[in-house]
Amino acid sequence: MTAPASAEASGLLTVDLGALRDNYRQLKAKAGAARCAAVIKADAYGTGAPQVVQALTAEGCDTFFVATLGEARAVRATAADVTVYVLDGLFPEAGPAFAEIGARPVLGSVPEIREWGAFCASRNEALPAAIHIDTGMNRLGLPPADVAEAAAESDALGAFELALVMSHLACGDEPDHPKNEAQRQAFDTLRAKLPAAPASLANSAGVMLGPAYHHDLVRPGVALYGGRALVEGPNPMKQVVRLEGRIAQIREVEAGETVGYGATWTFDAPTRVATVPIGYADGYFRILGSRDGHRGAVAYIGDHEVPIVGRVSMDLITLDVGAVPEERARRGAMVELLGPHVTVDDVAALAQTIGYEVLTSLGRRYQRTYIG
Ligand SMILES: *Cc1c(COP(=O)(O)O)cnc(C)c1O
Repeated sequence: MTAPASAEASGLLTVDLGALRDNYRQLKAKAGAARCAAVIKADAYGTGAPQVVQALTAEGCDTFFVATLGEARAVRATAADVTVYVLDGLFPEAGPAFAEIGARPVLGSVPEIREWGAFCASRNEALPAAIHIDTGMNRLGLPPADVAEAAAESDALGAFELALVMSHLACGDEPDHPKNEAQRQAFDTLRAKLPAAPASLANSAGVMLGPAYHHDLVRPGVALYGGRALVEGPNPMKQVVRLEGRIAQIREVEAGETVGYGATWTFDAPTRVATVPIGYADGYFRILGSRDGHRGAVAYIGDHEVPIVGRVSMDLITLDVGAVPEERARRGAMVELLGPHVTVDDVAALAQTIGYEVLTSLGRRYQRTYIG
């Protein structure tokens, strides 16, 4: 008899699509009259774009944002009818690919607007696209000084369907940051120069900032996946991701022994060490390790906290399980690395990063299970 894959897996990643759907409903309710799209770039922040699209479509979500044309192609393969915007915009001569996929470029410069207009005119077909106005990121989008020039491109603007005008907040995660209001005002002033179209400014944080930021369509990403949208205060979203690693070996160590590369952690008393085959190659960051005088991340066995000892290796971590009953901390048992006791944002804080990076770094060696 073949063992079930879950018995073979060194790591189990469980994505709770029920929690994802709850988060979508919560964001949609917050957005009031605005439509709620979903940002699913980077494989839906590491959680699996096909499954996420299917789950959110069932909640009535019909508009998705990806970063790249390749991601748009993948979405189209699983969802024939949804609207897909490509945030990276239109690369030279990429028009036919957009048309073939049925994806919409987010145009961010006068040359992109001209090229999309000429492409649509050549097909005699007013295909939809968005225009991105830069109101303070200096990354993608029409610089404010170019909006008037874009507005004067009447041939181009007349040749395609302007389906959305959008901008992106730089400091939305800090609700009191003066840049939020400045960007909102700049967006409303600048978009008035372009032909009338539905407007969108809010990412997850923008949804939390309130109705003035919601316009016609909101575009949350990280909050859908349970990550924190605002730097401070409670995170009202449900955790979507749970990561468990399997104990490969248990060993006894004496006081004075060390563990792992560099011998960075010295045991001050006899204890037991569990080795779990998850490491930095799986997105479990090296900075989460412990060294003498510095405690790193913790994991959980049931309700028992088990600290990481020593460095995180490519494929392995080591945990001090001396305080856990032997029947719980045994070979083959599972250890919670992300879940109810250790949130994505807890790990992010320890790793001096943000939940977005923890999620999008989730490894490819885990057995993935979708529930809910
Ligand atoms: C990634 C992204 C979003 C989603 O941002 P979150 O902070 O994850 O909600 C929205 N809009 C644009 C332009 C983005 O690049």
